[in-house]
Amino acid sequence: MFKFSRTADAIGATASKLEKTRVLAEYLRELEPADLRLAAVWMTGRAFSPNDPRVLNLGGSTMWRAVQALSRLEPDELGSTYLKYSDPGDWAFEVLQGRTQPRPTGLQAVAQAFDRIAATGSQQAKLDELTLLLDRLQPLEAKYVVKILTSDLRIGLQEGLVEEAVAQAFGLKLDQVRRLHMLTGDIGETAVRCQGGEVDTTTIQLFKPVRFMLATAVATPQEAMERVGSEARGVRRERPPGATPQGGNPPSIWTEEKYDGVRCQLHKQGDRVALYSRDLRETTLAFPELAEAAGRLAHDVLVDGEVLGHRGGKVLRFFELQRRLGRKEVPASLRQEVPVALVAFDLLYLDGEAILDLPLRERRARLEGLGFEHPFLLARYETARSASDLDRLFKETRERGNEGLMLKSPESAYTPGRRGMAWLKLKRPLATLDVVVTAVEWGHGKRRGVLSDYTFAVLHEETGELVNVGKAYTGLTDAEIAAMTQHFLLSTLVDRGRVRIVRPETVLEVAFDSIQHSGRHKSGYALRFPRIVRLRPDKSVQEIDTLATVAALYERFFGAESETTLEEIAETPE
Ligand code: AMP
Repeated sequence: MFKFSRTADAIGATASKLEKTRVLAEYLRELEPADLRLAAVWMTGRAFSPNDPRVLNLGGSTMWRAVQALSRLEPDELGSTYLKYSDPGDWAFEVLQGRTQPRPTGLQAVAQAFDRIAATGSQQAKLDELTLLLDRLQPLEAKYVVKILTSDLRIGLQEGLVEEAVAQAFGLKLDQVRRLHMLTGDIGETAVRCQGGEVDTTTIQLFKPVRFMLATAVATPQEAMERVGSEARGVRRERPPGATPQGGNPPSIWTEEKYDGVRCQLHKQGDRVALYSRDLRETTLAFPELAEAAGRLAHDVLVDGEVLGHRGGKVLRFFELQRRLGRKEVPASLRQEVPVALVAFDLLYLDGEAILDLPLRERRARLEGLGFEHPFLLARYETARSASDLDRLFKETRERGNEGLMLKSPESAYTPGRRGMAWLKLKRPLATLDVVVTAVEWGHGKRRGVLSDYTFAVLHEETGELVNVGKAYTGLTDAEIAAMTQHFLLSTLVDRGRVRIVRPETVLEVAFDSIQHSGRHKSGYALRFPRIVRLRPDKSVQEIDTLATVAALYERFFGAESETTLEEIAETPE
């Protein structure tokens, strides 16, 4: 663990990406496969690979108690040291100096401790394991264990640089490593395969989930037309033999509903079936009716789609579907209350053949040939040839009370894990609201030392109270944030350390994509993905938007019954 920690420290000490990669490559090259698998994952700031269903579930207070017990310091002193760094790892490093009984500890031993922490449900047992682990480490090692456990190394090493280091370590092209990583979704597995020279990415192994293809956000139909065209041109070059040549000019785009469910990958081979979620965890038990129905499919497949809840022909809102998630078993009553369907939009594997590289139109043709029956449906798509077509389709989806459209190039390959130009999502802010800042928080990382996180409120028109509806981090320039920091320091009413309650007088206009019910805010609502559009010094707190406006928007787009029928957005094959 010491070598890992020293390497991570050296990576953090240089701003040069080249140097970071070189240092990491040198370290990875020397590792045995079992250590390599761990180190590569840990260097991305995760204790477990995203494919690994386990979670540590280690609360911040457990971490605090373990470090406190070993440091033998008073909470006050621990707290003030913490504020100095705002980083649990740096904090542990300082307060554990001379307080542990270090013994040489390899990566495997640390991994075994992580396994035990994940395996127990008791916070006390987790605390005991963590305390034992930290006690056998040097402070530098403890620093990185804590950073891994809090999922952020803060050494300026994104996943992309780890891929580069793996390529450099084993003399491979970056593209090869990326593609393998896309497919496996596991940088540890990728590194080990690269070390062993197994870089063939043309095969899919069923029951090893493939990373999902993602979409890039676009704000306007014009932007969508330009971008999706560019991707189609790039892909044509790679068209495999046997694929249909692309049709003539104007680029056509397929549009599908942006479904408000959960992404799902269905693997089926013979009698065996598994479902995986967006983060590649197995979710077969959450949707037993899908697993049972998949067993009856006549083909071996890997299908990509979205699970939707439905009732009486209408699509259920996400919060109803959510009741089916995160359970070990779904009671029959819930299966009846929230029945589900899988709306399939892609096929990556069919009867022994990986077909990721075929164009979407070919994959779709094969998907349509599978003879789906309920609960398997096909995503309904429309073809758009111009920005005005897209505009019309977007308006239609909005009228159904949905937030956006997915746009796909019919000529594109399936690129796992990639947010490329072949899939776009057209979203426009649901609305903007004028709100007032009620509390501010010191930022992290690059935003350390400035008050950058703003909690904001709307007006409760009946009581006259200000009720919080969200927290925004983005949208202002660095200069604006610096000026606002000065402003909020002067308008602080209560200083709680990290958080300051401020005089409610600063009005912002915020845009957002959706609204959720929330127990955290007194208003009962939380805006999702809010961003600051502009400061509104011209407005006073009396002029901000009201809770009634938020509630009305919620009802229209997310509340109770949705207006969308399954039939409008999905179909069964003829
Ligand atoms: P976002 O979560 O905003 O990045 O949007 C990407 C997500 O949209 C995917 O992970 C899917 O779960 C979801 N999605 C909804 N409808 C579709 C669709 N028709 N095609 C692909 N992804 C979709």
